[in-house]
Amino acid sequence: MSWGMIATWRMAHDGVTQASEALSNNGQAGDAIETTIRTVEDYPYYKSVGFGGLPNAEGILEMDAAFMDGDTFKIGAVAGITDTKNPISVARKLSDEKFNSFRVGDGATKYAMLNGFERKNMLTQRAHRIWEKRVEEIAKSNLSPYDGHDTIGAISLDTNGSMAAGTSSSGLFMKKPGRVGDSPLSGSGFYVDSEIGGATATGLGEDLMKGCLAYEIVRQMGEGKTPQEACDQAVYTFHDTLTKRYGKAGAFSLVAMNNTGQWGVATNVEFTFSVANDQEKPAIYLANMGENHQTIIEPITQEWLDAYEKRIKAPID
Ligand code: ASP
Repeated sequence: MSWGMIATWRMAHDGVTQASEALSNNGQAGDAIETTIRTVEDYPYYKSVGFGGLPNAEGILEMDAAFMDGDTFKIGAVAGITDTKNPISVARKLSDEKFNSFRVGDGATKYAMLNGFERKNMLTQRAHRIWEKRVEEIAKSNLSPYDGHDTIGAISLDTNGSMAAGTSSSGLFMKKPGRVGDSPLSGSGFYVDSEIGGATATGLGEDLMKGCLAYEIVRQMGEGKTPQEACDQAVYTFHDTLTKRYGKAGAFSLVAMNNTGQWGVATNVEFTFSVANDQEKPAIYLANMGENHQTIIEPITQEWLDAYEKRIKAPID
């Protein structure tokens, strides 16, 4: 049986590589999601997910995460959770609850603490310094406060034919307290059905929620489209519709995988992702929106990776 995994952004790659190893040895789809996302949550230099994530306008790091099981449609999610080491693990645990499976704010944090999840101050000195600088810059110029956000979203398929999806994000940098994006919302940030496939999103949550794009991609795959056809059709059509009717479409990027391990991607910005399956070794690609509603996908270059490494670790004065 085939297996596969796809996830948003370069930051997902180490986790995807690790999870692929497990999936190729009959590891379970849900475990692959949790492993991959925890790797990103734990790494301090990824400044939009977990430890080291960027805080809200008041300097508080509020995180969103979700987990979905494609066999049973069980979903668990948290929004605005604070001081908790791995929001994805809390979301996964919540997916076992019949009621109260999506918790926000204090309710989410309390659930995590009462269920033995590790309490941790997730705001690093580096992230705090970036926040201080942004506050100063905003005071001085008319800069948009919201630049600087990315979500890890992942879809996995195991050799039993089970699929799972997960997301984790600190949401928009400088968001207002209590703001929640698409990442913990089923249908917008993620969706998976083991009999069809799954999709997950990153980008401006306020606009992603307008299109429920993760669900729309799965729906189109269910009608027989390949993941790439479904991504191109759903994402670019909605990009055009939103531009026409709302005036502007924010940045959005989606990745999808079907239940045979075929994958697809669509984006309206420069976007990286990591993918692996039983035919293809884990690899990072760069995607861009091409003309005529098609996605241009090319392998990442060493030069790009070196520049990225330098950028995420650059000293903050
Ligand atoms: N989708 C996330 C949010 O709006 C942010 C991102 O993925 O860039 O919270």
